Amino acid sequence: MPTPPRSFSVSSAGLFRQCPRRWHFRYVEKRPDPPGEPALLGTFVHRVLELLCSEPAGGRTTDRARELAAAAWPETRDDTDFIALDLDDYAQRQFRWRGWTAIEKLWELEDPAQVDVEATEAKVSATVGGVPFFGIIDRLDSARDGLVVTDYKTGKAPRPGDVPDKLDQVLLYAAAVEDQRGERPSRGRLYFLGNQVVETPVTEEGLNGSVSRFSETWTEVGRSCADDEFDAKVGPLCGWCPYVADCVEGASEVRSRAGRGRLKSDAPARVLLGL
Ligand code: SF4
Repeated sequence: MPTPPRSFSVSSAGLFRQCPRRWHFRYVEKRPDPPGEPALLGTFVHRVLELLCSEPAGGRTTDRARELAAAAWPETRDDTDFIALDLDDYAQRQFRWRGWTAIEKLWELEDPAQVDVEATEAKVSATVGGVPFFGIIDRLDSARDGLVVTDYKTGKAPRPGDVPDKLDQVLLYAAAVEDQRGERPSRGRLYFLGNQVVETPVTEEGLNGSVSRFSETWTEVGRSCADDEFDAKVGPLCGWCPYVADCVEGASEVRSRAGRGRLKSDAPARVLLGL
């Protein structure tokens, strides 16, 4: 019988909700889940913004960001997951260009020289809704109205209907900060670089909703572990699941989608299943 993990993160909870079987592969069997190109691009952008926001406020300029991006590039270039992408010189230049474009878009959302940054990549271990929580906050700012939790996103901005789900992350970080420091942040926000800022005030009601969803997922994890049952939740994301070749239900779903012309041409499952 698997034992539940010692701590639970937003991404672990999200993966369990997406598919308990995939969660089992990832968190119980601890099989590798190598990041794809979009995730590696996000890591590169986050690293540069972390370095930038660690500079004295007046030094946070686009010129300085360019220097930091050049200095940070070898970390990404020499990363084994990046090497595994096997990008040629042209594709690597495109990768760097997309990374730089996302970094530069920060100035369309704010002037970082005007921000009072308290911490970057701040690790938080706390008890949230009775759950042992762990997370890394991209940036914690001190604003006139109090602490502000900020998380950068390099993907597309969510559709309006998906906004509440997306905001769960910053609300849970706010709950963790409150547990750890005894001070409730006033706002949480997601910076979709190049698109928009999605922001929420940290209210009792908002916190309660996010914390209770998180806590319910944790209870479900405990139940699945006790019963040693992790259901396969098939859907379009099976096409991007690294474990599809070992999941009968997921492989069948992907084959069926491919047969109906409903599987995207770049879905990695095509390669994994030899389609
Ligand atoms: S292939 Fe689909 S159903 Fe199977 S583990 Fe992956 S996401 Fe879950």
